[in-house]
Amino acid sequence: MSNPKYNINTRIVKVFHEDGNQASIPPIYQSTTFKADSIDSLSTNNYDYTRSGNPTRTTLQSHLASIINCKHTWVVNSGMACLDVILSAFLKPNDELIAGEDLYGGSDRLLHFFERKSNIKINHYDTTNLELMKSKITKDTKLILLESPTNPLINVVNVKEITSYAHKINPNCIVVFDNTMMTPLLMNPLELGVDIHYESATKYLNGHHDIMAGVLACNNDEIAKKLFFVINSTGSGLAPFDSWLLIRGLKTLSIRLEREQENCMKLANYLEKLNFKVRYTGLKSHPQYNLHFSQCKGPGAVLSFETGNIKLSELIIKNCKLFSTTVSFGSVSSLISLPLKMSHASIDPKVLKERNFPQDLIRLCVGIEDINDLINDLDNAIRLAKRELNAKL
Ligand SMILES: *Cc1c(COP(=O)(O)O)cnc(C)c1O
Repeated sequence: MSNPKYNINTRIVKVFHEDGNQASIPPIYQSTTFKADSIDSLSTNNYDYTRSGNPTRTTLQSHLASIINCKHTWVVNSGMACLDVILSAFLKPNDELIAGEDLYGGSDRLLHFFERKSNIKINHYDTTNLELMKSKITKDTKLILLESPTNPLINVVNVKEITSYAHKINPNCIVVFDNTMMTPLLMNPLELGVDIHYESATKYLNGHHDIMAGVLACNNDEIAKKLFFVINSTGSGLAPFDSWLLIRGLKTLSIRLEREQENCMKLANYLEKLNFKVRYTGLKSHPQYNLHFSQCKGPGAVLSFETGNIKLSELIIKNCKLFSTTVSFGSVSSLISLPLKMSHASIDPKVLKERNFPQDLIRLCVGIEDINDLINDLDNAIRLAKRELNAKL
């Protein structure tokens, strides 16, 4: 139930639900079936089978609609399931789609699966180049997939301008925005005009790296209906227990993200002082700092930096003790990765080369630990890495 009179930090904590027993938090309805009132009607609350609807999932969806401030939300099994549902619902053979060059590796893999299987035409462009985008969007553009800031290159896309141009050229063009990096707390893509906002709740929304989930949000009834048709038909709706865990994880989203951003900002300053090329929208040195803050309320907690030497990057990662070496982000604990060999390994190396993807790029996903420990860990790792590298020369 949307309650716009509360601010977002309150809406995140306040979960509306009715269970009949005055429980303080929503219970889990683990049941797959719901008894009908009679053979020609459903149960009193219209539930019959959990693939189609479940009260715990409904509570989560209403809660997310309140946080995002939108009309419809659906929760599914993963962030990738969101994109799968969207592509299945809206694309036919020979349809044309535009996506960015620096898009999430898993999205790239799924798009190209659809290209091979269903003959969808996929064009990758530099979405940060507004003039280029305007020259490429045509009446035949059926769907545009945007992300901002992109990850790990931290490029910013002018969401409002691209979306309004696309809708002017083709009013039926569906503009889709992957908001995993910013979360509803820092960005509201629907307010910038996009048709569908989705994000991986595996990351910040849940925040503890213990469930996979995805959220789809929109304001248009027809779009919502089409999305639900696919979710119900395929059974990608989020399980009751995972829905319940996500309701719990969400409650601390704003304090987690606040601390993570604060830590990330300090790490960005520290790395910039060491003369690494740091990519982070919180830094004034980011070329699209103003554009970013015209559409977002904060810089987020993911940064990347180049060391100038792929061996040095690998050694830094190897020598970190507090930063775990793993993919993903959005958890309370800090992570470090080499995107080229990890999250982006599913993208063709030839394509990465064409897109000038820096091989030595390290990505940091910053958690809520004590900042002094994080800086010390990185400092030690950099020192040891340089020593090991010099010993090899
Ligand atoms: C992780 C991620 C996804 C995919 O989400 P899963 O929950 O892992 O399926 C999509 N987009 C972005 C930007 C991501 O970081």
